[in-house]
Amino acid sequence: MLHCFFYGTGRSDEGVCIELQIAGYRVLLDCGLRDRPDLRQGLLQAEPPDLVLCSHAHADHVRSLPAFHEAFPLVPIYSSDVTADLIELDPALNSGTIEPLPWRSSQELLPNLTVQLFPAGHLPGAAIILLTDTSGDRPQTFLYTGDLSLANSRLTDGLKLEELRGLSPDVLLIEGTYGTDRLPHRRQLETQLMEKLDRALESGQSVLLPVPVLGLAQEILILLRSHHLFSGRSVNIWVDEAIATVCEQYERLIPSFPSSIQNFARYQALFLDTTIRPWIQRLEQFEQLQSPNDLTPNSLTPNSLTLPSVPQILLIPELDSIEDNWPTWVRSLMQQWSTTDLRSSDWVVFMPHTDSPETETYFLPDHCDGATLPQVIHNLRPQHVIFIHGTEEKLLQLAELDDLNSRYKLHIPSPGSALELPIAPNFSRPALPDVSYEGELVETETEVLLSLPSEIKADPRWKKLSDLGMVSAQWQGNTLVIRGLSQTP
Ligand SMILES: [Zn+2]
Ligand SMILES: [Zn+2]
Repeated sequence: MLHCFFYGTGRSDEGVCIELQIAGYRVLLDCGLRDRPDLRQGLLQAEPPDLVLCSHAHADHVRSLPAFHEAFPLVPIYSSDVTADLIELDPALNSGTIEPLPWRSSQELLPNLTVQLFPAGHLPGAAIILLTDTSGDRPQTFLYTGDLSLANSRLTDGLKLEELRGLSPDVLLIEGTYGTDRLPHRRQLETQLMEKLDRALESGQSVLLPVPVLGLAQEILILLRSHHLFSGRSVNIWVDEAIATVCEQYERLIPSFPSSIQNFARYQALFLDTTIRPWIQRLEQFEQLQSPNDLTPNSLTPNSLTLPSVPQILLIPELDSIEDNWPTWVRSLMQQWSTTDLRSSDWVVFMPHTDSPETETYFLPDHCDGATLPQVIHNLRPQHVIFIHGTEEKLLQLAELDDLNSRYKLHIPSPGSALELPIAPNFSRPALPDVSYEGELVETETEVLLSLPSEIKADPRWKKLSDLGMVSAQWQGNTLVIRGLSQTP
């Protein structure tokens, strides 16, 4: 039997923090509770756990670590090495507070309890955590995905399903942020964002993007530095200090980034740079560093906003606060928005000489969507699946999928609840569902190309087919059947 207590399930804004009882120990999975007494009291007043494991450095997973560490300084905290470096940017934590664990290698952190990390995509350093209780005749396994994404982003390779195949955990604790929504490909959405920004600048507008300081901010910056619409372009990009701090830490983490980024970094700085266009600089230097060629400052608008007359791009934290060190015109501009709920997926475009900024939205997904999440689950084929990290509505959508609820025992715990998970020793793993895939035909003069969604690769049977790389197509009545060519002659 495994037990869980859910301090926070990331359902709304409470953050993720879960206590797992395994191998006679109490293990805390993430520590991201909001600074609200009702949420935190339980955690800080309980008996301290034996150890803490952090999946990744986003605030909703680690924001209560400083308070936890202050209350229980002797409880060890573990994460991947990159996550440790990112968490320790928090001035409330000393460097060395988090103990880094290597990727993939199984570590016995306590007698009869081993832990193994696998890259989860989503954010540099993000880990899927496998815990194994080795005390009984048959090991019991619990897999916590943290936040995960199969899609590659610029700075993080997506989760590789092959790595998880065969782990077959007894319990899978997985995030379901997007529910069953199917989303366009990340690359496509990146291109759309770059094209929209390009059009705004071309029409003389400046752009203000409120973004999460860790992850999305750097993704957008590296897109601007490397995308063909922007690389070499004479546009100034300004970033708030909090974003700049993470950018500087990312520069130190280059060896752990995808090889395309390592190559890019051979010739230029990734982020803060005024040698290769487009320049990225700290926002607080805006007034000192403006060059007469790029800016015609102090052009007064009807409401005395002093806006630059040449288009600029600004990235500021999504927080609803206005920093003293921002230029006056940014503060005046933000004052218009501080009362409204400007979301992190919104951006503001504004024209110089007018006082009527407009908002637009953009979306760069960084979690598995409704097409890929079931694939992850079918590859693991656990006895129990626990969904967290999403609204109740989104998680219920997943729980209603026949492919899932006919095969696995599904749970959607609410914050403050406990869950007991009986493990059947002779559980036979269910057969995989027969998914059908929709593709597209493209006719050219000489051939016909069939394109299928890349999720098809998630099936364990794909490898055999792709190793040979040949298919045969045969009409059966009005139906065209595609088959892998057999290797036997
Ligand atoms: Zn996250
Ligand atoms: Zn999260």
